[in-house]
Amino acid sequence: MYDYHLHSWYSHDSTADPQMIVEQAEKVGLREICFTEHVEFDENGIGLRPMQISEYAECVEKLRKKSDISVRMGVEIGLKDQESFMRAYDLIKDYPIDFIIGSVHWTDEGDAYFPPFFQGRDKEEAYRRYLELAYPRCISSSKYHVLGHFDYPAKKAPYKDRSMCYKIAPDAFDRLFTYLIQNGIGIEINTSVYRTLDEKMWGLDILKRYVQLGGEFVTIGSDAHTPERVGWRIRDAIALAEQAKVRYIATFERKKCILHRI
Ligand SMILES: [Zn+2]
Ligand SMILES: [Zn+2]
Repeated sequence: MYDYHLHSWYSHDSTADPQMIVEQAEKVGLREICFTEHVEFDENGIGLRPMQISEYAECVEKLRKKSDISVRMGVEIGLKDQESFMRAYDLIKDYPIDFIIGSVHWTDEGDAYFPPFFQGRDKEEAYRRYLELAYPRCISSSKYHVLGHFDYPAKKAPYKDRSMCYKIAPDAFDRLFTYLIQNGIGIEINTSVYRTLDEKMWGLDILKRYVQLGGEFVTIGSDAHTPERVGWRIRDAIALAEQAKVRYIATFERKKCILHRI
C-alpha cells in the first residue's frame, strides 16, 4: 500500500501539517508515502521559493527518521513548456528528490478545474479537448516519472456522470500514452476524483489500452490535501490496476524506479 501523491502546507493549496499526514498514513496501514508538493511555473506561476524547498527537504528527512513507514520527497510539476519545466527542475535539482509527477492543470483554454473550461461543452467534448491540449505540455519534458491524474477535468466537472472512458478520445489517449511509454514515463491512478467511498471507479478501459500499448507501471495516489484523505481508496485502485493487467506498481527512491509486481 503506497500513497504516492500527497500535499502538505509546503503546497500553496494545503494547510496540512506533514506530521499529521504521516501519522494518518501509519494509522491506515500504508507502507510507504511520498509527499508531492506543487512546483508550478505554468500559468499558476506559484512555485516554491528555494528557502521553502530546503525547509521541505529537512522536514521530510526528520519525518523519515521518526516514522516506521517509508517517507519520500517528491514534487508535482505543472506542465506547460520546456522553459517552465526547467525553471521548476532547476529549483529542485540540488535536493534529494525521490519522485516527480508531471501534471497538466492549466491548458491554453484555462484551468480544467474551473467552470469556464466546461462552459458550452458536453462531457465528451470537454474531456477530449483537455487530452488534446495536454499533449504539447506533456512532451515539453521527459524528466518526470509519471503523468498525474490523466482524468484531471473529472475532478470538478459539472456533469452528473463524471466518468471518463477511452472511447471519448482514442487518438488523443494513444498519442499521449505512446509518448509516455517511449520515454519511460508511467501514469498515475489518482483517487481524488472519487468523492465517496462507493462511487464506481472508472478507467479500466483506459488502463487496459495503456497496457496494450506497452505501459508497464502505474503509481497510485490519493492527492490528499488534508490528513483525512490520506490513503483514500488506494486499495480499490490497486484492484483496478490488477483487473487491467497492469504489471507493476512503482515507487521511487532518489529518482530510481522500483517495480512491485501486482
Ligand atoms: Zn495536480
Ligand atoms: Zn496534487
